[in-house]
Amino acid sequence: MSFVNTNFTVPPPITVAKFGGTSVADHAAMSRSATIIKDNPAAKVVLISACSGVTNLLVELANGIADNEQRSQRLQQLRTIHQSIIDQLTHPEAVAAEIDQLLTDVEALAKQTASAPSVQLTDQLVAHGELLSTFLFTQILNEMGAKATRFDIRPVMRTDSQFGKAVPDVDAIRQLASEQLQPLLQSDQIIVSQGFIGSDETGQTTTLGRGGSDYSAALVAEAISAEILEIWTDVPGMYSTDPRITANAMPIQEISFSEASEMANFGAKILHPSTLLPAIRQQIPVFIGSSKAPEQGGTWIRQHVAQPPKFRALALRCNQTLVTLTSLNMFHAYGFLSEVFRILGEHKVSVDLITTSEVSVSLTLDQTNTGGGAPSLPAAATEALSKLCRVEVEQDLCLVALIGNKLGEAPGAATQVFGKLDNYSPRMICFGASPHNLCFLVKTSESREVVKTLHAALFEAAK
Ligand code: ADP
Ligand code: ASP
Ligand code: MG
Repeated sequence: MSFVNTNFTVPPPITVAKFGGTSVADHAAMSRSATIIKDNPAAKVVLISACSGVTNLLVELANGIADNEQRSQRLQQLRTIHQSIIDQLTHPEAVAAEIDQLLTDVEALAKQTASAPSVQLTDQLVAHGELLSTFLFTQILNEMGAKATRFDIRPVMRTDSQFGKAVPDVDAIRQLASEQLQPLLQSDQIIVSQGFIGSDETGQTTTLGRGGSDYSAALVAEAISAEILEIWTDVPGMYSTDPRITANAMPIQEISFSEASEMANFGAKILHPSTLLPAIRQQIPVFIGSSKAPEQGGTWIRQHVAQPPKFRALALRCNQTLVTLTSLNMFHAYGFLSEVFRILGEHKVSVDLITTSEVSVSLTLDQTNTGGGAPSLPAAATEALSKLCRVEVEQDLCLVALIGNKLGEAPGAATQVFGKLDNYSPRMICFGASPHNLCFLVKTSESREVVKTLHAALFEAAK
């Protein structure tokens, strides 16, 4: 289908829609999500996550469960999740064999990884969650009378070979999408494909890191020049903080790309941190809504919004690893930091935040790879750094971030925040590098209380 405009043909506007794990958790959730697609003729490309809980199970298996009984138990859980959806299909026979084959592959890979786990095997195994869910979702759309076709995204979603946290090759993805995906868009079919997964140049399966389906959807939207990106999840949009932390969290109707990017970067799980990069490059507005209650509306993320507020939201990111490096040789010396970063770079340690004093430097480690959990400093990096300075590693910490606008110029912003934290011990305070955030570490045990306290003072009181 195309719109004819006197003497040249304009492609119809396309929406790329992404549904997260809870939106495809079971037959009922998949049916609700499928209805959203059916009701929107522009929604021609749908990317979905694995059914809720499936990626966690696959990660456990990928980490290598040596005990046969425990492994079988996880495999059985995977079978049950998918079988219960198959059981509710009108035509289970249309997908039963494919699902069975994929689950059999999972079993073989899980056995393999139990004796010799590897990052390649992890990605190959974990990718099965999305491969499974897309078969079921396509079938449900078809049983609802829509015309849907399943598409394996891996040959299009070209990445490098950093398994567990692969970096997409944007130019290659655009080229591959124009060859393999664009022709399908000319048909009347809805394309159902996988978030999270891709493949490297040699065809090996890769993943973009936990929560990466949002990013996949944005990359596809960019590659096909979609007009809108929709992210359907279990809450009606972005809130002033995670609604699971406080029921007083307030919905945000409209937010700028830069504010939403900061929220995502600082732990607002609703968006994978890289999601907005492609949307910003291509200026694609992003809508976030709840697949359980689409009628409730949601949040629009755009380039500019009218009157961005001083304080926008609070984000919380746990599983932080803090590394403190201390050396008297650092005092008035040059070259120390460059040596530190050379060593970290050599051991592929990605640094997130950093603060320095005359004799020490504290940094937190990046933690977005598919393996999950708090990242550790590799032993070889610790050894190399120890030759240069004292190395201390601390975990059990969370990062609290206040997101806003022109925070550095806002008189009294720091007092408004730290004046409320007399009962807590914030550490590694970062303020000033970005006009959009102020952040600090706190102990995991007090982190939710800190967010609640600040939310009450900065958001609820203002209301
Ligand atoms: P999906 O599986 O659909 O990708 P996620 O669990 O990754 O969903 O993200 C949705 C969750 O993000 C919500 O259930 C909510 O708890 C959490 N969240 C964190 N911060 C925020 C926020 N500021 N606004 C809304 N939701 C948030
Ligand atoms: N299924 C993957 C995960 O659970 C990707 C995603 O849901 O975005 O992390
Ligand atoms: Mg998510």
